[in-house]
Amino acid sequence: MSAAVLERPLAPSSGRHANSGCGPSLVPLDIGHAEYMAVTDPGTAFWALVRKDRLAASLAEGELLDSYRAKAADFARELHMLRFELKPSAVYVNPTERCNLNCTYCYIPEGMRRSGQHMPADRLMAALARLKDYFATVMPAGRKPRIIFHGAEPLMNRGALFAAIEAFREDYVFGVQTNATLLDETAIDFLAEHGVSVGLSLDGPLAETTDATRLTFGGKSVHDKVLRAMDALKGYASWSVIATCTEKNLDQLVPLVELFHAREVPTCMLNAVRCTLPGARTVRPDDDALANRFIAALERSHALYRETGRKLVVANFANILLAILAPTARRLMCDISPCGGGRAFFALAPDGGLFPCSEFIGLDHFRGGNLFEDRIEDVLQTDAFRTVTERDVDRFAPCSTCAIRHFCGSPCPAEAHEMNGGMERVGAFCGFYEAQVRYAFRLIADGKADDFLWDGWDEGVEPSFDLSLG
Ligand code: SF4
Ligand code: SF4
Repeated sequence: MSAAVLERPLAPSSGRHANSGCGPSLVPLDIGHAEYMAVTDPGTAFWALVRKDRLAASLAEGELLDSYRAKAADFARELHMLRFELKPSAVYVNPTERCNLNCTYCYIPEGMRRSGQHMPADRLMAALARLKDYFATVMPAGRKPRIIFHGAEPLMNRGALFAAIEAFREDYVFGVQTNATLLDETAIDFLAEHGVSVGLSLDGPLAETTDATRLTFGGKSVHDKVLRAMDALKGYASWSVIATCTEKNLDQLVPLVELFHAREVPTCMLNAVRCTLPGARTVRPDDDALANRFIAALERSHALYRETGRKLVVANFANILLAILAPTARRLMCDISPCGGGRAFFALAPDGGLFPCSEFIGLDHFRGGNLFEDRIEDVLQTDAFRTVTERDVDRFAPCSTCAIRHFCGSPCPAEAHEMNGGMERVGAFCGFYEAQVRYAFRLIADGKADDFLWDGWDEGVEPSFDLSLG
């Protein structure tokens, strides 16, 4: 339900009753909890937890309906702002097409990674200067845009990268996502000195697991190199590790979070492999098996927190919790519809090509223009971008009738298009998202959600719903 609908004059029913007239649409949702169910208004992402034995009474009268009446308009406004009113504040910059690894699931075509082009340093500087001019027109004064150097492997073009960071250190908040194989001591010192956040990739606790999907073109293991880089980063405030979950490492996710915790990784992501390109689909895990091992890994990270007092936040799951508890505190933009691609951020290819998200680099029909030839404002309005930015979870089945669609967001449009045949399709992992949302509600019901979130996540955030009501 949009804010406009809520403000319409009421029909004669006056909205007294749930699920009829102009009363709220409140859908009961089994969350697999012994005592509680969730109730959601799928259109506004309003939710409440109610005792199972009080479900009928809650829908008939009392606190639930009163709370809905008091809060639904705020939920609708907040959701509308997040879904339709954001302006870009970040760019994923690919400073090279090349990579020294040949991962099974990479979204960059192999030819590009083997022998593609680097962006020359002067070109990278010119790109950041043009982006700076653009951001000055859309971002509030005092807020810096983010530049995330992204794959292929940004450190293959290290000279240009570091020169650009040095030159624009006052203008941007920088991050780099790297496979860590080129992350030597000098590089780490430089990145730390410039406050650059560093994201590494590691898929298993043992070389044999990492080697199943991440090897050099010559077939060499990189597992030990990544571990050495992790040791060198220990104590740095701003680093994280991404593990890509495939059928090759599902049974290793629990020992993997143990390794991350032991090495004092502050934040990790356990991302389901993106199935945009056919190679990735060869290692796609089954939804139920993935959900089962993913939740086991979350529970293990929680047990380690309880034992040691030190958190390992699993950011992609924390983001789903935040989508429920405080949507505007979200840090990632995949599980919202339209997703962040092409509207909260966009991606820059080494040849100046602009794409809605890195996930589309390599799919030429999603090229919206060129940074050096076109106005960014115009690129954002091209068909290539609008195909992504107008993919709306309210408008296609089965998502349009799904009670959790604004906690899931139906990611990812690139997968929907390339794997499932169109933007009005689900992505690769509907069942996995369902399981995550149900688990998130169980944690909220048990009062454990804070344990899975960054400390201080709720500072300055209005709670969406007062749980004591349940
Ligand atoms: S859902 Fe896909 S296209 Fe959208 S931001 Fe995430 S990775 Fe990019
Ligand atoms: S992908 Fe599945 S869980 Fe997500 S909104 Fe669509 S139907 Fe719901």
